[in-house]
Amino acid sequence: MPELPEVEVTRLSFATRIAGARVLGARLGKPLRWALGCEPQSLVGLAVGEVARRGKYLWVPLQRGGLLMHLGMSGSLAFSEVHDAPGPHDHFDLVTTRGTLRLTDPRRFGAVVWSDALHHDPAARLLAGLGLEPFDPAFTGARLHAALRGRRVAIKQVLLAGDVVVGAGNIYACEALFAAGIDPRTRSSTLSKPRCERLADAVRRTLARALELGGSTLRDFRDAHGMAGAFQLQAGVYGRAGLPCPRCATSVRRVVQGQRATYFCPACQRR
Ligand SMILES: [Zn+2]
Repeated sequence: MPELPEVEVTRLSFATRIAGARVLGARLGKPLRWALGCEPQSLVGLAVGEVARRGKYLWVPLQRGGLLMHLGMSGSLAFSEVHDAPGPHDHFDLVTTRGTLRLTDPRRFGAVVWSDALHHDPAARLLAGLGLEPFDPAFTGARLHAALRGRRVAIKQVLLAGDVVVGAGNIYACEALFAAGIDPRTRSSTLSKPRCERLADAVRRTLARALELGGSTLRDFRDAHGMAGAFQLQAGVYGRAGLPCPRCATSVRRVVQGQRATYFCPACQRR
């Protein structure tokens, strides 16, 4: 599943090239998760603004509104001056004077939705409940500590839920907790402020490393799964059950939390 770093690398791959372009047309393929919510023809002539990201959503501003895009489980976006005829998995094309932005999504959990503004529905509704951006200066240990007050669930679950901070998908949540030395099963409300500081820092550093990896090795980024795969090769614990912890050589353990696999070092990570 494309995670925040992949979505951000995707944004960086076309944001400057598409800014200022005018829409020549839009083409829909098979239905996506949600309907477009406007006539494709109504987009013609609109100028593209500065593409932004919020969580795993991309916002493509188009003068009197914009398109909110999500890559779902298997989606990827590519911007190209020349595009072949759409294939069976290409379900949305935004044709512009600078090139075509194409959503390829075999499983069709992705979406492209028109909204009059980010703070109007449906965008507002879809973005409601998202936590802070990990690189937002407001995301501090103190803020995290305050947000965890009264939360009885395991810290890994809170990270995955994304309502405190966005971006810590399964692999990144596991790696951040490893970097912070926190057992993923720890009850959230019991984490001290200093440990919250370490965790907030670890979340930022983990996602920054993933971004760096995406930016350096996958500049021409097409496969949203390739990047998590490349990150996984450098992982300390994720996907490494039974292998030695890179820090202390204790066997990495795998448990299941909320139906997702969690990997951690039972020696380095404490409750
Ligand atoms: Zn260890």
